[in-house]
Parts: sequence; C-alpha cells; structure tokens
Amino acid sequence: MISNKIEKAINEQINAEMWSAYLYLSMANHFENEGRKGFANWFRVQFQEEQAHALALMDFLNARGGRVVLSPIEEVPTSWESPKDAFLATQAHETKVTSLIHNLYAMAEAEQDFATRQKLNTFVAEQVEEEDTVRDIIDDLTLVGDDGTGLLQIDRELGARTFVQPVL
Ligand code: MG
Repeated sequence: MISNKIEKAINEQINAEMWSAYLYLSMANHFENEGRKGFANWFRVQFQEEQAHALALMDFLNARGGRVVLSPIEEVPTSWESPKDAFLATQAHETKVTSLIHNLYAMAEAEQDFATRQKLNTFVAEQVEEEDTVRDIIDDLTLVGDDGTGLLQIDRELGARTFVQPVL
C-alpha cells in the first residue's frame, strides 16, 4: 500500500503532467495557426510525451493500490510572441517540473517509500533529457535570430520529430 501523503503528492504530479500536456497542445495549435508546421509538430509530440508521463504515474499509483484522482486542469496561455518565446516558456516550465519531481523524490525518501523513489529515477533522468533538448533548440533559435531562412530550417528539423513511447 501507499501512504496518503505520497498518494496525494503523486496525484498532484499527475495534474502537473496533464497541465504540461495541455500547455504544449496549446503551443502546437498556436504554431499550426501561424503556419509553422514543424514547430506545431514538435509541440504535438511533446504533448504526447507529457500524457505518457501522466499515464505512467497513474499506472504506478494503481499498481500500488492507490487511488487516482483527476483534478481540473488550469487554463493555459494561448499565444506566444515568437518560437523562441515559446521555447523559453517551455524551458521555464520544465525547470519547474524538475523541481516538483525532486521534491516528490525527497518526500519518498523521507517516507521510506522505496518503490516510489525507484519509480521516480526514470522521471529524474527524463527531466535531464527534456531540459537538454530544449536548451539545444533555444541555442539554435538564438543563433538564427529573425532570419527567415534559418527559422524555416529549424521548422523543417522539428517537423521530423516523431513520438517514441518513453520507457518509464
Ligand atoms: Mg513531464
């Protein structure tokens, strides 16, 4: 069985992952509307990844005999000044998610919930990857600045991203 405290914290994390999914889906639609199909594709895949994070936590909570409680998902922004603006917002958000995961990890450790702590190892690693990927894209966007050809090139690259089910 899982403690009420950890159960509540995992439910909060599920909500945070669902909010992330909603945020990236909003970005995908924003870029679709702007005619930047590659950026739209990248964020749509990102949306799928966040859903996978939430589902993995739900599966884990159920496997531990806990109860999944889905709370309302807060409203998300709907427009961004530029692709770089959206990626800076993504970076800020992922940094926040990383600290949420770390807090949850610390709680699992304090509660001696070793199963939760072990499950979270994959999430800790996943966050390192998320932040690294986003940093690389921001670097590229900084390099091209307002250059249309450069932005088109990045749009094409991001258009090639496909969803790969993360192993969590
Ligand atoms: Mg996530």
